[in-house]
Amino acid sequence: MNIYSLTREYPSPEKIWQQQYKDSITSIDTLCNALDIQHNQLPLSISAYQQFPLRVPWSYVQRMQKSNPQDPLLLQILPHKHEENVVSGFSKDPVGDLQSITSPGLLQKYNGRALLLATSCCAIHCRYCFRRHFPYSLHNPRNDAWQQAINEITKDMSIKEVILSGGDPLVLHENELSKLFSKFESISHIERLRIHTRLPVVIPARINKEFIRLLNKTKLKIVIVLHINHAQELDIQLKNKLRDLSSTRCTLLNQSVLLRNINDKSDTLIQLSEALFQASVLPYYLHLLDKVQGAAHFEVCETQARKIMREVASKLPGYLVPKLVKEEAGYTSKTLIAI
Ligand SMILES: *Cc1c(COP(=O)(O)O)cnc(C)c1O
Ligand code: SF4
Repeated sequence: MNIYSLTREYPSPEKIWQQQYKDSITSIDTLCNALDIQHNQLPLSISAYQQFPLRVPWSYVQRMQKSNPQDPLLLQILPHKHEENVVSGFSKDPVGDLQSITSPGLLQKYNGRALLLATSCCAIHCRYCFRRHFPYSLHNPRNDAWQQAINEITKDMSIKEVILSGGDPLVLHENELSKLFSKFESISHIERLRIHTRLPVVIPARINKEFIRLLNKTKLKIVIVLHINHAQELDIQLKNKLRDLSSTRCTLLNQSVLLRNINDKSDTLIQLSEALFQASVLPYYLHLLDKVQGAAHFEVCETQARKIMREVASKLPGYLVPKLVKEEAGYTSKTLIAI
């Protein structure tokens, strides 16, 4: 095998993000080749693959260790045979999203905050995703250009913060983001705009000049909540882009999901917190897994989670200890788990 032809396929970090987004790996063969792993070394499931397709950008695969079927980044995206297990208590809408929809793409579940499902697309498919079964096609605000959702937000004076979620809102083109920003700036009761995203983590080039310009220009307070689960995800490209982000006035937070065999050791979580802080990001939440069908093999039980977090808390300053939380259907906030 000619390894050079494979390594040449890795895009340069400066390749525009849209192209990297399009060029993402969706084939198991390509993934195996890139990592020097044989099919039969991986516990793959075709039916899991068909149900929720493989999707991972090259720049994320580049951060995986070659020839390691247990790599913590690989395990996050691999259609695994354990996904076929039907486990009681694991459902298709584990956090009760559907009961909180007030107009297409608008979730009103949290006091003072409105959550807009800005798009249904993601740059990466995380196997543990709580929205992996979400019927996006029925609840996509882009179908009527967001106007109905924006009308609802405009009418409700109690909303101070709009949360852009998805999918991944940074999949939207700068022009679309810019339009959304302007809409929210023109609503007098909106003070904060929060963006929940994993896109810049998996394609750092997403933090481009246009996006930085948008952040510098807006009068809204911007909070960006990144989703990084492991320190290995913080490579040099991402660190450089986080430095660009932190030079704007936005607040940078991170949320992670506690995942079995990926980040369920106190040392791993400590390394993550320290690497985040080095990159000007504060650890915010550590989520217990949402009990979504197909993800049971990622579960870390609450007792174990508390034990891990007690170890983390005993070794780090308080501001580097994320809050251990779980999301429960029907509640208006996350449930804080005392450690
Ligand atoms: C929890 C959550 C929110 C609301 O979170 P708070 O930080 O508690 O206000 C919004 N979006 C997503 C995706 C969440 O998981
Ligand atoms: S990026 Fe977020 S929304 Fe998209 S698949 Fe991963 S966890 Fe789910």
